[in-house]
Amino acid sequence: MKPARTKTPRKPLVKKGSQTSLKDPVGVYCRVRPLSFPDQECCIEVINNTTVQLHTPEGYRLNRNGDYKETQYSFKQVFGTHTTQKELFDVVANPLVDDLIHGKNGLLFTYGVTGSGKTYTMTGSPGEGGLLPRCLDMIFNSIGSFQAKRYVFKSNDRNSMDIQCEVDALLERQKREAMPNPKTPSSKRQVDPEFADMINVQDFCKAEEVDEDSVYGVFVSYIEIYNNYIYDLLEEVPFDPIRPKPPQSKLLREDKNHNMYVAGCTEVEVKSTEEAFEVFWRGQKKRRIANTHLNRESSRSHSVFNIKLVQAPLDADGDNVLQEKEQITISQLSLVDLAGSERTNRTKAEGNRLREAGNINQSLMTLRTCMEVLRENQMCGTNKMVPYRDSKLTHLFKNYFDGEGKVRMIVCVNPKAEDYEESLQVMRFAEVTQEVEVARPVDKAICGLTPGRRYRNQVRGGPVGDEPLVTEVVLQSFPPLPSCEILDVNDEQTLPRLIEALEKRHHLRQMMIDEFNKQSITFKALLQEFDNTVLNKENYIQGKLNEKEKVISGQKLEIERLEKKNKTLEYKIEILEKTTTIYEEDKRNLQQELETQNQKLQRQFSDKRRLEARLQGMVTETTMKWEKECERRVAAKQLEMQNKLWVKDEKLKQLKAIVTEPKPEKPERPSRERDREKVTPRSVSPSPVPLSSNYIAQISNGQQLMSQPQLHRRSNSCSSISVASCVSEWEQKIPPYNTPLTVTSIARRRQQEPGQSKTCIVSDRRRGMYWTEGREVVPTFRNEIEIEEDPCCRGDVYKTRGGGQSVQFTEIETLKQESPTGRKRRSSTAAPAQPDGTESEWTDIETRCAVAVEMRAGSQLGPGYQHHAQPKRKKP
Ligand code: ADP
Ligand code: MG
Repeated sequence: MKPARTKTPRKPLVKKGSQTSLKDPVGVYCRVRPLSFPDQECCIEVINNTTVQLHTPEGYRLNRNGDYKETQYSFKQVFGTHTTQKELFDVVANPLVDDLIHGKNGLLFTYGVTGSGKTYTMTGSPGEGGLLPRCLDMIFNSIGSFQAKRYVFKSNDRNSMDIQCEVDALLERQKREAMPNPKTPSSKRQVDPEFADMINVQDFCKAEEVDEDSVYGVFVSYIEIYNNYIYDLLEEVPFDPIRPKPPQSKLLREDKNHNMYVAGCTEVEVKSTEEAFEVFWRGQKKRRIANTHLNRESSRSHSVFNIKLVQAPLDADGDNVLQEKEQITISQLSLVDLAGSERTNRTKAEGNRLREAGNINQSLMTLRTCMEVLRENQMCGTNKMVPYRDSKLTHLFKNYFDGEGKVRMIVCVNPKAEDYEESLQVMRFAEVTQEVEVARPVDKAICGLTPGRRYRNQVRGGPVGDEPLVTEVVLQSFPPLPSCEILDVNDEQTLPRLIEALEKRHHLRQMMIDEFNKQSITFKALLQEFDNTVLNKENYIQGKLNEKEKVISGQKLEIERLEKKNKTLEYKIEILEKTTTIYEEDKRNLQQELETQNQKLQRQFSDKRRLEARLQGMVTETTMKWEKECERRVAAKQLEMQNKLWVKDEKLKQLKAIVTEPKPEKPERPSRERDREKVTPRSVSPSPVPLSSNYIAQISNGQQLMSQPQLHRRSNSCSSISVASCVSEWEQKIPPYNTPLTVTSIARRRQQEPGQSKTCIVSDRRRGMYWTEGREVVPTFRNEIEIEEDPCCRGDVYKTRGGGQSVQFTEIETLKQESPTGRKRRSSTAAPAQPDGTESEWTDIETRCAVAVEMRAGSQLGPGYQHHAQPKRKKP
């Protein structure tokens, strides 16, 4: 069956509100230990240096689909079965030690099931020193010669350090050494063979850039957390083998900088790797004894080994430590060997031990929860409370996760099949932990004193540590002098012994001098040889130097040439830049000018447009005016012509009537009464217009038509002349422009010729006039037409005048609009009344014309019109 390969499902890294630049993720590494027996089933495979793959072992196979699952897990780095302790140290712990020396904290813990190699990784085995001894070695290699004298730094119970002056420190040293059972281990003591090969680290490892102007002190402490209780493994308590007392647990406290610490925990100052490891070993032994005595499962406890590095600057002379507590920098590296992460039932623990084991698992569970909450907070931007306080373990390391240093975890796995399920859990925890970010620790503050103080002090010959002088060593190597006291005169032994001793010393001295001379000769020869070598090398170097100098001088010349060229080019560039500036200036000016011209042009264009519009308006106006004027004139002319035509018609009709009428025998001057009677039947033509009452009133007043009747006034003597002569006379009397025209006829013609636009226009124009008390008034206009009443035919007379005078219309339109009845009534009263009752001055022709006009109008208006019109014409 083909295995189904699935890459570990990784949640997308969506980080909210995290300042990635100032945070580092927890570094999680994986170490796979070799199988105990080569024929064991292996369930973990290292794919590459960052990935491992878990194979489901035989018994676990067949998931729902019938496949067996293979899951891959990624780490910062994976260390396979062949990885050495040094390789692991270089990658994982070396940077932490480097940070420690530079004043930054670090936390390194091993996590995994029991037997996966946590202790092996942390402590090591004989001949295979783990991370802990290597860390110690690196620390002492780095600060070795800059260590402060013992008891210069003194730890207090507030998780900080005090400084003592040299004298106080010396006194305390003497006091402690005088004690029967010195608690402080001596660095000169023999190393315990039990762990001697664990700390015999061959690889010399040292931190870079160690501050030489500081003095350093190293303090170690070692605690165990078991069943959520903290025990101090370095505490000196008298041990009673008969009734062993259970160890006292310690409390956690927070210092003024909010760092958690174990209150009252023993901190031992150590001066070398051996000494430090001895302290650790002591604690380890104690742990083992306690576990045995108290029937504990040792794999169920967490052990924490703290290395505290204290550093303080040298004073300005570079002689002693600066006695300022504020200048002390304390950094700490915690190396934690966690309890086995397996579930309780797997350990087959019973009774009391089961309960304890459960608790231990609980603290690992809390660690898991803390990691999960931290990750959630960082990724989702939430602010959930991290349950650090739920266990002593997490509470103690709270500061690390809140940003007090680097955190690194080594996940140890045993690839054997039985551990498969537990290894899966371990992998899952590792996955979560990898995504947690911890704030990057800040660099330590600089003290402000000039660097290089220690070096300058040594040059001056100041104290150089604890090293004894050469002369002292030489003196110590001589055999001791016997007692020189001569107590007895006969003493023959003391002096010869003394002489012998002195002779020995002399001989020794002579030998030493000889040796020294020999050595010095050899040394001189060596020196000579060295000198020669140096000389040769010097010569060789000189030759090389000369060569190089030549090359250099050549290059200098080249540089000079290039510089000159550069200068020329720079000069050219300058000129070009200046030219460019000038051109740019010109361009700007021209552009400005162009803009101004454009604006001017636009202004002119808009002016032109405006003028055009105005002219157009004027032209249109004038055209309209003239068109109106022309129309008016044409209408006037038409009216005039029509009137003329009508008059001629009338004349012709009358002539026809005269011609057809039988002539009386004797021409007799008829009376007015008779005249009227005679004339009336002759008239057949309708009257041009029926007169309005207004008009009649005007006439009766005799104001407006005073001159007109005079024009037509005839003497009685003329009544006897022939009709033809009368007609010709009448024709002559009427001026061409004063041709009367009845409104009725105009109206009729208008009706008869509806298609003639000009007539219509006249009519329209008339409609545009406005009325004032029975009169239409034409608005003032330049060439207006003056309309006057012609009393002769009681119609309107149109006169054009050159001047701008107003024109008056009589009630032509009023009449037109009135009903036939009204017209009848009016026409009945339309006869020219003579107010004074004098004789009518109407001539025959006039009368006839008027009657004819009336008749004509009557024929248009209705059948009763003519009938009424004639009898109403009464004599004046
Ligand atoms: P843990 O502390 O996790 O319970 P140990 O460190 O005590 O496990 O390891 C159990 C045994 O396995 C020890 O004997 C140890 O020497 C051995 N061992 C563990 N890891 C390795 C390794 N990487 N190489 C060789 N031996 C190992
Ligand atoms: Mg262990």
